[in-house]
Amino acid sequence: RHLSHLELRKSFYNFFKSKDHEILKSTSVIPNENDVSLLFTNAGMNQFKPQILSSTEPKRVANIQKCIRAGGKHNDLDDVGKDLHHQTFFEMMGNWSFNDAFSKEEACRFAWEYLVDTLGIDDDRLYVSYFAGIECLGLLEDHECREIWKKIGVPPERILPFVAENFWEMGSVGPCGPCTEIHYDQIGGRNAASLVNVDDSVVEIWNIVFMSNVRDSSGKIHQLGKNHIDTGMGFERLLSVVQNKNSNFETDVFMPLMNKISSLTGRGLKYNGSLKSREDAVFRLVADHVRAVTVAISDGVTPDGTGRGFIVRKMMRRSFLQGNSKLGIDRFALSDLVPTVISTMKEVYPEMETSSDNIIRLFKEEEAQFWKTVDKAKKMFDSLSTESRSSVFSGRKAFNLFETYGLPLSVTIELARNIGKEVDEKEFEKCQLEAQKLSRNASQFKLPISAGEFPTHSDKEKYSYGFKAGKYEFPQVETRI
Ligand code: ATP
Ligand code: MG
Ligand code: MG
Ligand code: MG
Repeated sequence: RHLSHLELRKSFYNFFKSKDHEILKSTSVIPNENDVSLLFTNAGMNQFKPQILSSTEPKRVANIQKCIRAGGKHNDLDDVGKDLHHQTFFEMMGNWSFNDAFSKEEACRFAWEYLVDTLGIDDDRLYVSYFAGIECLGLLEDHECREIWKKIGVPPERILPFVAENFWEMGSVGPCGPCTEIHYDQIGGRNAASLVNVDDSVVEIWNIVFMSNVRDSSGKIHQLGKNHIDTGMGFERLLSVVQNKNSNFETDVFMPLMNKISSLTGRGLKYNGSLKSREDAVFRLVADHVRAVTVAISDGVTPDGTGRGFIVRKMMRRSFLQGNSKLGIDRFALSDLVPTVISTMKEVYPEMETSSDNIIRLFKEEEAQFWKTVDKAKKMFDSLSTESRSSVFSGRKAFNLFETYGLPLSVTIELARNIGKEVDEKEFEKCQLEAQKLSRNASQFKLPISAGEFPTHSDKEKYSYGFKAGKYEFPQVETRI
């Protein structure tokens, strides 16, 4: 049966309510202000980091969390557009067991039952993976997990061991642990085991993490001494499965936006969902970035020159430029997409409607600034390009245009091509690396604790990563839905 995105949300909540979970609201994409280890909320478990790190009563909760993966350990910024299943902004469905509220086996059974019995997904198309162990870190192979899947009835040839993919970490420090993941073969009728974690036609949908470890700032992994379970499933990916689409971008959370982009191209360009077409990739990028920016601003981020504001500015500029140069979208037309984003999300996030005018205003301001800069930089480019007759445009000059005017390399390359020159991209990269090194030394997210300070297992209660140590109180009523 075809479910709309609203129906899918409801079915998820109802299922976990029936398993005695308390349903909580999504928190902001701006992480807990005490958590200096994160740029944006990158997983459903972020808001529960305190519960995971300190002692808490046994409890089951579930939610659907707004996430942005555009920096830090989980950074999909440079992949968005290139495939059919990554966005920078996505929603993560999740359920949790704190302090043994349910067992490993129950976690796997809940997931299987929801997918196969409740949603009716063909179990012949599902593959599961488990942690194969990392000996040098003292992390053992998760036999127990493999046996659980066998008991549930998954054929052994579809239970696969992985190393790196099956040890989940929130960031470079913090909670982590072995995991088991469920993957869906979009094609079916074949043995797709060798394509899991390799090919875009087999999609990772659900990650169930056995949160039993924590990594300190020196890189050491310790036991948490408690059994928590943290699961995360890509909402748009699951939606693509239940709506029988091979792409997140063809589900009902994206199609209104794709159609609106199409109407702005002025050339009647349509989104065709192709993996190979460059224009389709730009459709995906623009749709994703405008969504991410809209959510981020609505949650309180302002585009500017540092931190998360800079990521937002970067996403805006990218969509202005790519939308204009690759799809022929007029300057200043892109903010027309904001109401479309909001109209598909407002039922779930009503607060977005009240920030609509502000978001549109910021889009226009940023765009005015951007084109002014590009036009200025173009003039500068013209004078630089006549300085030498060589067919190579210096990478250092291209980098200076980028640093001084914010002119993206891709624009410089295009301008250079127009006059029969090639940009020395290697030199550009070298300059960029030098600059990155300098800025890395100057500013860095401050880690909450320094190497060597990590407490031993026995005095874990004193340890808190910036949170109040000790017993953690669960979120207050307003986070319940
Ligand atoms: P992938 O390997 O596909 O990049 P991941 O292993 O990085 O995914 P997890 O950290 O395990 O992802 O997150 C849990 C779930 O969230 C994934 O199983 C997937 O369904 C979803 N997810 C992760 N990243 C994205 C993204 N960029 N866009 C949409 N959904 C995502
Ligand atoms: Mg990833
Ligand atoms: Mg993965
Ligand atoms: Mg994963």
